[in-house]
Amino acid sequence: MASYDVIIIGSGPGGYVCAIRCAQLGLKTACVEGRETLGGTCLNVGCIPSKALLHASHQLHEAEHHFAQMGLKGKSPSVDWPQMQSYKDEVIAQNTKGIEFLFKKNKVDWIKGWATIPEAGQVKVGDETHVAKHIIIASGSEPASLPGVEVDEKTVVTSTGALSLAKLPKKLVVIGAGVIGLELGSVYARLGAEVTVLEYLDQITPGLDAEVARSFRALLKKQGLEIITGAAVQGAQALKTKAKVSYKLRKDDSEHQVDADVVLLATGRKPFTDGLGLDALGVKITERGQIATDAQYKTSVAGLYAIGDVIEGPMLAHKAEDEGMALAEILAGQAGHVNYGVIPGVIYTHPEVATVGQTEEQLKEAGRAYKVGKFSFMGNGRAKANFAADGFVKILADKETDRILGAHIIGPAADELIHEICVAMEFGAAAEDLARTCHAHPTYSEAVREAALACGDGTIHA
Ligand code: NAD
Repeated sequence: MASYDVIIIGSGPGGYVCAIRCAQLGLKTACVEGRETLGGTCLNVGCIPSKALLHASHQLHEAEHHFAQMGLKGKSPSVDWPQMQSYKDEVIAQNTKGIEFLFKKNKVDWIKGWATIPEAGQVKVGDETHVAKHIIIASGSEPASLPGVEVDEKTVVTSTGALSLAKLPKKLVVIGAGVIGLELGSVYARLGAEVTVLEYLDQITPGLDAEVARSFRALLKKQGLEIITGAAVQGAQALKTKAKVSYKLRKDDSEHQVDADVVLLATGRKPFTDGLGLDALGVKITERGQIATDAQYKTSVAGLYAIGDVIEGPMLAHKAEDEGMALAEILAGQAGHVNYGVIPGVIYTHPEVATVGQTEEQLKEAGRAYKVGKFSFMGNGRAKANFAADGFVKILADKETDRILGAHIIGPAADELIHEICVAMEFGAAAEDLARTCHAHPTYSEAVREAALACGDGTIHA
């Protein structure tokens, strides 16, 4: 039996970041992980492998669509799917081994196996019971199921199976026009599949600023994705060589069927707490199945904490990481804190979509007086040179004080551009502060400055 200050259950971005920071702050720390490799869903079957496939398929798209125009002649590359899978697996291995190295460097013990919590202050892994002053649940999430949809991870897959398909599908049906469905749908569309996305609601990507969502939908359509909204999926079954998906259109209750080589179920994720023994411990769970915590990540059981996808809030790796760091600081006697008002969200399609703070719809609902500064990438020289002029930057600022309340970007490098605005928001900046900051020319970030200028005296390049 080993004794620790902190045992963390789960080594995803929430768990491993928390473990490293706890150790750095002088706490004796262990992290329990049952997978063969560290890093959780994000590094093994989520963010990292999907970005490898998005990158590779985007390169192909560029070669097919823009090379000739730039004077780069020759045959377009063809897809060697097994090699693309090896590249993806190598990227995963580099990242997961990196966490193993960081654990050793920071003296975090990796307890291999699946944890249960037999009683407060104890973590059992296999036959061994370990004790800890603080136990942190960072066990993440798993794909939510949908009645009538039978997942076999070969023909009817979740994001996990979709990252390792045996061969490239000719026809892919995606259930759910959320982040996963559109990112992976884009990958396979670029690799030559005919992609149909079935979405229950009337809009794609619920929660996104509606103007951005509309523009996003139009751009995806231009890329060849068929998106059917208002479609309630009734079921999906794998047949011998194909799969069949049935859905009802909500507007007229008409019933439809569509065949596919592969069906991707992407209708959300739910907290993963199987086998931890939370019921027996009496841990309070919310109506949405999340572990209830207070502002300092304490659960209803003394000495037991939870962070990341198992608690409320957006299921995002970086939100979990920030909670992990904040909790480590709290346990070390410092004032850990997460600013939930400034958590960016990114969809890694092309163009990318990035967002922070409030949407126009949220501001309207709150009755807040605001102004909008918008700038299209059509007015950005760098974007035009790079065939990346689709999209815009939209900044929402308080009408009276000019303080930035939110920003929504669809366009090139949106995932990087958004952070300038995050930093500005952390400092309580006004749009004018961004507008008066010199931005290098020619860069995409000039579009952010122009949107900030549009909140005041107006843009220069539009
Ligand atoms: P999501 O919540 O983003 O989208 C699910 C979509 O499915 C919604 O549009 C919903 O309306 C739709 N839907 C639900 N039931 C349906 C039905 N019966 N028929 C048709 N459509 C239906 O969920 P996701 O894309 O599965 O992602 C899961 C989680 O993982 C999210 O919290 C997401 O933020 C996170 N994630 C984030 C990233 C990123 O940050 N880039 C990438 C992948 C996943």
